[in-house]
This record gives sequence, C-alpha cells and structure tokens, in this order.
Amino acid sequence: MAEMVHAPLVTYVSMLSLLTLCPPFVVLLWYTMVHADGSVLQTANYLRENGLQGFLHIWPNPTSIAWKIIAFYAAFEAALQLFLPGKRVEGPISPTGNRPVYKANGLLAYVVTLVTYLGLWWFGIFNPVIVYDHLGEIFSALIFGSFIFCIFLYIKGHVAPSSTDSGSSGNIIIDFYWGMELYPRIGKNFDIKVFTNCRFGMMSWAVLAVTYCIKQYETYGSIADSMLVNTTLMLVYITKFFLWEAGYWNTMDIAHDRAGFYICWGCLVWVPSIYTSPGMYLVNHPVNLGVQLSLYILVAGILCIYVNYDCDRQRQEFRKTNGRCLVWGKAPSKIVASYATTSGETKTSLLLTSGWWGLSRHFHYVPEILAAFFWTVPALFNHFLPYFYVLFLTILLFDRAKRDDDRCKSKYGKYWKLYCEKVPYRIIPGLY
Ligand code: NDP
Repeated sequence: MAEMVHAPLVTYVSMLSLLTLCPPFVVLLWYTMVHADGSVLQTANYLRENGLQGFLHIWPNPTSIAWKIIAFYAAFEAALQLFLPGKRVEGPISPTGNRPVYKANGLLAYVVTLVTYLGLWWFGIFNPVIVYDHLGEIFSALIFGSFIFCIFLYIKGHVAPSSTDSGSSGNIIIDFYWGMELYPRIGKNFDIKVFTNCRFGMMSWAVLAVTYCIKQYETYGSIADSMLVNTTLMLVYITKFFLWEAGYWNTMDIAHDRAGFYICWGCLVWVPSIYTSPGMYLVNHPVNLGVQLSLYILVAGILCIYVNYDCDRQRQEFRKTNGRCLVWGKAPSKIVASYATTSGETKTSLLLTSGWWGLSRHFHYVPEILAAFFWTVPALFNHFLPYFYVLFLTILLFDRAKRDDDRCKSKYGKYWKLYCEKVPYRIIPGLY
C-alpha cells in the first residue's frame, strides 16, 4: 500500500501538478537553454507575445530519428545489463520478506558505453552532435514514450506483478504516480528499476555530458575550461555512482519507492533533461575561467563528491560488517533497532550514530547539493536557469529527508526517537 507522507490534499495537489507541469517544463528548459540564450526572460517574452500557440510551436515533434536514437541506446543498455558479467549481489530484504538478486555489472556497462560512444565519434561512425541537434525531439519522444512505459508498469502491477512486493492503494492516480511494484522484472533477470534508474537515466547523464562537450568542440574548435570543469565533475560523480551502484540498490529509490511515474518517469526524462542542464547551457556559453579558478572549482567539487561517497560507504560498511568496523578510526557508536515486518516477524537493524551519521541524520545531502553547485558555477551568474538543478535538488533532498525520517519513525518507533535525541539535526548540523 503506497503511504502518503504529506497531508492528503498536499499529496494530490503536488502529484497532479507534477504530472501536468513537468513535461512542458522539460521542453521550456531545453528551448531556453538551446534557443533563448539561457534567458528565462527571453522565453517569458516569447510566450507573452505568442501565447499557447507559440508554446505549441516550440514543442518539438518526436521525430523518427529521435525514436531511433532512443531505441538504439535503450537496446544497447538493456543488452549490457543482461549480458555483461558481474558479481551476484543480494539487495536488502523487502517488506514482504523477499531478497532481490542482482548482477553488479554497472561499472563495466558504464565504461563500455563511454568507450563505444567516443569510439563511434572518433572513427566517424556516429557523430554525437546529431544527438545535440535533435535534443528537443529526443526529450519530446522521451516524454511521451516514458508516459506510455509508466502505463505499462501500472498494468503490469495489476495483472502480472513479479513478486509479492506489489499492491494497489485503491486509487488509480496514486497507483500510477507512486507505482505498484517494488521490484518489477521482465523474466527472472531483467530488473526494470535498475534499467530505468541506472542504465538508462544515470547513463544518459554521462552520455549527454560528453555530447555537450563534443558539440562545443565541433562548434568552436575547442572546449572552454568552464565546460571541462563541468563535464569532469559530472563524470566523476557518475563514475562514483556506478562504482557504488550495488550500494544504490539498498537506498530509498530501489528498496522503498515503487516503480511508477515519480521514480521511473523521473529517471527516464527528468535526469537526461534537467540533471544535464548546466552542461546544455555551457555549450553555447564557452566561458573561460582561467587555470587557477578552474582548479579551485574542480578540487572543491571533487571533495564534495568524495564526502558524499564516503557517507554512503560508511553507512554501508557499517551495516555489512554488523557494526564491526572502524568509523573515523574508532569503534562506531550505534543503536540496535528492532522492527516488525509486514508478516509480523521481528527483525533488527543497526543505526550508526557516529561519523558522518552522527553529524546529522542526512548529512550526505549537504555535499550532494554542494557538488551540484560546483559543477554549475562555471556557468557564472549571468543567468539563473543553469542553477535550476541545484534548486530542484535542494527541494528534492529536503523533502526526501522528511519522507525518510517519517518512514524510519514508523519503522523503528522508539529507536528512531532515540536516534533523533542523539543526533538532533535532520540535514545541516546546528541549523536544521
Ligand atoms: P539512503 O537510502 O542511503 O539512506 C537512508 C536509509 O538508510 C534509511 O531509509 C534507513 O534505511 C537507513 N538509515 C538511516 N539512518 C541510518 C543510520 N544512522 N545508520 C544506518 N542506516 C541508516 O539515502 P538516499 O537514498 O536518500 O541517498 C543515497 C545517495 O543517493 C546519497 O548519496 C544521496 O545524496 C544520493 N541521492 C541523489 C539524488 C539526486 O537526485 N542526485 C536523489 C537522492 C539521493 P533502513 O530501512 O535500511 O534502516
């Protein structure tokens, strides 16, 4: 049963507005970055003068070349996910007692994808500039295609769920929006959320980051240092993601959020369009920062990505070793928290209360947001739109921290209360 973490009215209003506003927003953002110099004002003036007709005019058609690019990419990633070798990894035990099994081949898939993409360009087989030049059409196709895919997930959840971790809330909009299945699969091995979230979504972020670089290179004959800093930081972040992909399979996205519009449409459309948007802006704004400033931003960004990685690593190592590890050179302090599964069984989990997890309950979101700021700041401050992702991420993570706290409170009860007493701040130590 999908839980409502906010008041019902807030939930309905936010669901319906996300369902109706996100698709046009993706198109407007792309249009502003690529055709309106990144200026929100310019787009707003255009819309004021031309109204709805003008908006419909800029909405690109999902052309056959766009569908072909998406189909090739999706098929390639699906094949890598299915056929590349990888260690067998078990996910966390689900609320109904299932333990999903995965093949950890994400890093290899990431390397193969980037090498193949750069190879196709280098040997003149496929020019990534084609992707940039059809970006609007690709986003348009993704908007419609992913919507249909979410309808498929909804129907599958009703008629052919892959496991007992599935169910209906009794409300069609909630089922469609939050999803029905926790671990939908095609056959035994093809995990749909690994595909949508990791191999399509996160991978497309890297592919598009490289595409933007190549487009700038082919347009201007060189790559500005601002673009290099942006692309390097984004690639470091995505490399970290794939290095740690099996860890990601233990997080809220996979272990708690069901496969519906919120997660899947988000990963299939929002990640390629919004997450990559600072790079999309830089293509036509080749700012030169100079070596010193570039290095400062690069080092600050890498540091943030490292701290974010270390927070996740610390929690996972602590859980994997059952608390028998060192945290910042000392034995960890912890709470042994028991909880009941939906089948009434009592289980225990360990909550780490030292290291990063002793600073605040979601400290890892701080370096996550700062890293995004550092890969955006090469765009300097002429326009607000490149910073939209940082703003969006901040809202997303503050909301997520609340959702996670509420979920943990209902899961662990008095033990979570104890954790909150020991570690009183939710995200920013001393402030919030
Ligand atoms: P996690 O799932 O990693 O952590 C939350 C879970 O960890 C809780 O639900 C709880 O699960 C467990 N937990 C909570 N406190 C403790 C503790 N003190 N000790 C041990 N376990 C604890 O969080 P996220 O999925 O939000 O984040 C994972 C990563 O993904 C982060 O690096 C984050 O920054 C990144 N991220 C990036 C986003 C983006 O769009 N760029 C969006 C969201 C996340 P349990 O039920 O097992 O106890």
